[in-house]
Amino acid sequence: KRSTDFQNSPLPDFTKPQVRDQLPQAIAHLRACLNSAPETPLLIGSEQIRTSDTFDSLNPNAPNERIATVSIAQEEHIAKAIQAAKKASGSWAKLSFAQRTDLLKSAAAKMSERLWELSALQVLETGKQWSEALGDVAEAIDFLNYYAQQALRFDTPSDCGKTLGESNQLHYRPRGIATVIAPWNFPLAISCGMTAAALVTGNPVLYKPSSQSARIGYEFVRLMLEAGFPPGALNYLPGSGQIVGNALANHPEISTIAFTGSRAVGMRLIQSAANPPPDAREIKRVICEMGGKNAILIDSDADLDEAIPAILYSAFGYQGQKCSACSRLIVLESIYSHFVKRFKSAVAKIRVGPAEDPRNDLGAVIDASAQRKILEYIEIGKDEASLLYQSEAPEYGYFVPLTVFEKAHPNHRLAQEEIFGPVLSIVKAPDFETAIKYANDTPYALTGGLFSRSPQHIALAREKFDVGNLYINRGITGAMVERHPFGGHKFSGLGTKAGGPDYLLQFLNTKSISENT
Ligand code: NAP
Repeated sequence: KRSTDFQNSPLPDFTKPQVRDQLPQAIAHLRACLNSAPETPLLIGSEQIRTSDTFDSLNPNAPNERIATVSIAQEEHIAKAIQAAKKASGSWAKLSFAQRTDLLKSAAAKMSERLWELSALQVLETGKQWSEALGDVAEAIDFLNYYAQQALRFDTPSDCGKTLGESNQLHYRPRGIATVIAPWNFPLAISCGMTAAALVTGNPVLYKPSSQSARIGYEFVRLMLEAGFPPGALNYLPGSGQIVGNALANHPEISTIAFTGSRAVGMRLIQSAANPPPDAREIKRVICEMGGKNAILIDSDADLDEAIPAILYSAFGYQGQKCSACSRLIVLESIYSHFVKRFKSAVAKIRVGPAEDPRNDLGAVIDASAQRKILEYIEIGKDEASLLYQSEAPEYGYFVPLTVFEKAHPNHRLAQEEIFGPVLSIVKAPDFETAIKYANDTPYALTGGLFSRSPQHIALAREKFDVGNLYINRGITGAMVERHPFGGHKFSGLGTKAGGPDYLLQFLNTKSISENT
C-alpha cells in the first residue's frame, strides 16, 4: 500500500555528541580519499567516459585543495548522450507514473543513508557550513519524496465532464528529452529537484552540473543510477555553461530546458528557445528560476528581538549566496536610528572563517570570480551609500568582508542589482506605503519579508508586496518543500513553483481525448 503522506526530512540532532561527530568524521574520510586524485568521468548510457580535456573543482575555503578533476563533455559526447536518451525514452515513458515513483523513493532512501558523506562533500566543494550542507541534502530527499507523491495523480486521466454519448478526458504524457542546467549554491537539492521532476514524468535527462559543484553532481547521478534508473534515462555531462550548457540547450532533440541560475543566462536560454532553427519540430519549453534582490521591511513596531537574528541569517547565511537571501533592508524612519544601532552591534558578532569549523558563521564565497564581483560592488557601495559595518576577511581562500551599507538610495545599483554575497544595504523609508513601493521597485520578485505588529500593515503587505514568496515575522530563506512552494516572477523566474503542486505539470504535455460513445 502506498503512503500519500509527505513529511519533510528531519535534520540531525546536534545536541547528541554521537550525531555531532559524524560530519567531521565524514569530512576527514573524504579528505583522506582526495589524496588519490579523484576523477569524475562522464556518465552516458551505461558508459563511464574519461576525456583528456578536464577542469579541477576546488575547495573555496582552501583553493589548493582539489575536490575532483572533472572530464569535460565534447560535442561527440552530447550526440552520444542524445542517442542514449532516445534509446531509453520509449521504455521509460511507457512505465506508469507509479513505477517511476518507486525509483524516486529508493533514491531518497539511498540519499538518507549517505547523508553524512554527501554533506561532507558540500562542505568541501561548495564551502557550506554544516547546517547548510545538511539542509541541502535534506531538501534533495524532500524533492524526491514529494515529487514521487505528486506524480501518482497523473496515472489517472482527469475527467473533463460528461455529456450524453461522449467521454472526455485529459491525459498526461511525457514531453521528451529534458536538459537540466543547475547552479552551485544548492548543488544537490536544485539538481535533484529539477532532475527528479523530469524523470518521474517520463522524460530522460541530460544533466549539466555547475562547474563549481561538478563532483556533487557526479555523486548525485551515480546514486540515482544505483537506485535503479535505467542507463540512458539520466546522463551526466559536465563542462562550461557557455560551451556544454549552450550546446545542450540548443540541441534540436531537446524538448524541455529546466534551468536554475542567473538572470543573464536564463534570458539567453529563453531567447534561443524563441528562435528555433528551421528544422526544429517543436518549441522548447523553458523553465527558468533566476535571481532576486530581496527586501525585508522593518515596521516602526517590529519586534527587533525576533527581527535581528532572522535578518542576520537571511542576509548572511551561506555568505548571502542564496537566491532568496535578503540584500535590502527597508526601515521606517521612525525606528531607523534605534534599529541601525542595534543591528550594528549584532552584526559585529558574526564570526568569519572557514565554513568547515562550526564556530564560524561566514565562510568563503564560491570562487575567485565571485570574490572579484562582490569586492567591486563593495566599492560601488562606498560611492553610493555610507559604510555602516565591515568585518575582517581572511586573506587565504575566496573570502570577502561582510559589509553593511546604510542610507542607501532605493534606485542606486547597490539596491537594484543582485550581488550574491554578504553585502546588505539599509534604505530609510518615510512611511509604510513608501517602504512597500521601494521594495517592489526592482526588476525582481522572488522573496520578501516583513516584521510588523500592525494588522493593517500586514494586510497591506499581503496585498501589495509583489514577490513570489512572502514571509511575515520570520526569515526569508529556507523554503521547505511542500510547505513553501518556491519561485518568483518578473525577472526572477518563468514557471511554476518548485516543491509545489503545479511543478510537475511543466514536464508534461496534456492530451485531451473525446470519444463519441
Ligand atoms: P549561472 O552563472 O547562471 O550558472 C547556472 C548554470 O548555467 C551553470 O551550470 C552554468 O555553467 C550554466 N551556464 C552558464 N552560461 C550558460 C549558457 N550560455 N548556456 C547554458 N548554460 C549556461 O548561475 P550560478 O552562478 O551558478 O548561480 C547563481 C545564480 O542562480 C544567482 O543569480 C541566483 O539568484 C540564481 N539562483 C536562483 C534560484 C531560484 O530558485 N530562483 C535558486 C538558486 C540560484 P557553468 O557555471 O559551469 O559555466
